[in-house]
Amino acid sequence: MKIERVEIITRSLSGRCPNCGGFGMFKNWFRLNKRCTDCDMQLEKEESGFYFGTTSIGYVLAIIIVIIPICILAVLDKIGMWTGVTIGIVGSILLCVLLYPLLLSWVIMSYFVVCPQELPENTTDAKD
Ligand SMILES: [Zn+2]
Repeated sequence: MKIERVEIITRSLSGRCPNCGGFGMFKNWFRLNKRCTDCDMQLEKEESGFYFGTTSIGYVLAIIIVIIPICILAVLDKIGMWTGVTIGIVGSILLCVLLYPLLLSWVIMSYFVVCPQELPENTTDAKD
């Protein structure tokens, strides 16, 4: 295979296309292009629920990074209950919004780390 798993991971962690390493994946902050503008790899797979995966990763991160520390602080009486609730709600939403592009590329990464042979660069070997 031309592109190894390590390369897929390093590219995706920095928000780049796992196939070509370019920045052509994003249409805007919340949307992927249907295809990468650099290498034309298909990014939007209707049947596989990329976006559902994105929001699930967001929830898990929000719970680990925001909700759990706030619960601990509230239990320890470091912050008031309503302060904690407010920070928890605002913090979780902010976290998901700010990290959304990364979450999108991480969902794509998790897919191609499992099936690296489905990258176009890894399937066109035979032709050249
Ligand atoms: Zn690409």
